Amino acid sequence: MTSDLFAKERLLFNPVTPDTDAIPIIFAFPNEYTVGITSLGYQVVWATLAMRVDLQVSRLFTDTSENLPRNPEILGFSMSWELDYANVLSLLESLDIPIKSCDRQDNHPIVFGGGPVLTANPEPFADFFDVVLLGDGENLLNDFINAYKQVRNADKETILIALAQVPGIYVPSLYEVEYYALDSAIKSIKPISSEIPPEIKKQTYRGNTLSASTVVTEKAAWENIFMVEVVRSCPEMCRFCLASYLTLPFRTASLDSLIPAIERGLKVTNRLGLLGASVTQHPEFETLLNYINQPKYEDVRLSIASVRTNTVTAELAKTLAQRGTKSLTIAVESGSEKVRKIINKKLEQEDIIKAAENANKGGLQGLKLYGMVGIPGESPEDLDATVAMMQDLKKATPRLRFTLGCSTFVPKAHTPFQWFGVNKQAEKRLKFLQKKLKPQGIDFRPESYNWSIIQTLLSRGDRRLSKLLELTRKFGDSLGSYKRAFKELKGQLPPLEFYVYDNWSTEQTLPWNHLQGPLPQSTLQKHLNEVVTKQLSMNS
Ligand code: SF4
Repeated sequence: MTSDLFAKERLLFNPVTPDTDAIPIIFAFPNEYTVGITSLGYQVVWATLAMRVDLQVSRLFTDTSENLPRNPEILGFSMSWELDYANVLSLLESLDIPIKSCDRQDNHPIVFGGGPVLTANPEPFADFFDVVLLGDGENLLNDFINAYKQVRNADKETILIALAQVPGIYVPSLYEVEYYALDSAIKSIKPISSEIPPEIKKQTYRGNTLSASTVVTEKAAWENIFMVEVVRSCPEMCRFCLASYLTLPFRTASLDSLIPAIERGLKVTNRLGLLGASVTQHPEFETLLNYINQPKYEDVRLSIASVRTNTVTAELAKTLAQRGTKSLTIAVESGSEKVRKIINKKLEQEDIIKAAENANKGGLQGLKLYGMVGIPGESPEDLDATVAMMQDLKKATPRLRFTLGCSTFVPKAHTPFQWFGVNKQAEKRLKFLQKKLKPQGIDFRPESYNWSIIQTLLSRGDRRLSKLLELTRKFGDSLGSYKRAFKELKGQLPPLEFYVYDNWSTEQTLPWNHLQGPLPQSTLQKHLNEVVTKQLSMNS
């Protein structure tokens, strides 16, 4: 029951009493409460809104909500997962709000979206949002609200034009996309008038206090966890990696901010999660670990989001084993040294064996490795190398339980691999690994190939997909549903092949050409050229 869910929350901030003329705003997570409340991004944005006296915020999830205002002026969505777009549309319908921005009138709220999915590539969802916030929310969110307040009583068009002037605020409807033909590549993307900036720059927060949970609850998917963001981005820059490229530069929370945050959290729970793309690369990680190792935190259960392979020490493994962690996950991507070089993964075979030995020494029971197939330049021999690596690991540490989770390479916007398509051999390669590894007692867990195809479609899609998504939703969420929608819209947009499998020319106008990520396209191209040169020299 609704009240039950919210009643279980323990807040780590003080919501304020809104002014009488506060702006009524709904802040939604397009999934169930248990999923939404586990998103650190959602928690932090909600708390930011709830601490402003000029806003009256209510939360909305797909299965529950707080008391919603009858006439909200703003409706926000935090999007962490691509397929949640279907829930965005359903929630809009349930609130009697047209699902397309162009159909909304002055009496409808301004619908904004933010979060990792939209920051990476908002274009497939362009028709559904009036406003997209690009980048870190720390300053951007308040800039957005402050700018809105200046034009609060104006008509929708005036509001949108005013918001578009704020750095990091993207108003898709104010940009016109021209195509060579309806079913081929983009010719140009231009603002509809000279008062609209031609490019929008993703915002980067540069403070040394990062995010920490604002609410702890037993109803979260990670029950009662207090989360603290230790680092943002990753300095390694593996060439396919969105978690690194999209959020550059690598930033670390100062211990002066981390430790008081952890202290606050551990007063209400004994479950601590350290978050970030590359947690163990925090320059003072050892000090942090020693701090958590104090006797007073003896009963604290610790989870670490990501551990770089060559930072797995026996001490770290021991701490984790003592704190309730049974197994550690490391991303190696491939057992082939050649492939790791191509993707700029600075990892030697010995580092991987060492990580397993240290995990074993520290008392962990298992090691999970993450791999990928279909990386550009990968050949069948590279898969043999992955099989051999797993065999070597088993030989070196027979006591450890090994799992290999494996996905298909998916190109992501704002990375040097954005121009590559998916390798059609990938599905076969997943099956090959399964066949070879299973008999050896290695738990092989492939990620669905079809899901990778859908992910690619959405990660490289342009705004012509909005229409497709609207239609697909009626058919279900399988790959077959997308294919059916492509068939129905034939001639109105390029085929699935173009978005998913084609290697794109670097001359091509990308759907996100007008949205500036942390690195200019020229640098991404330079990184791509290095990859191509490496491949050629390795094949010769
Ligand atoms: S080490 Fe991991 S998080 Fe860092 S860039 Fe490589 S894949 Fe991304």
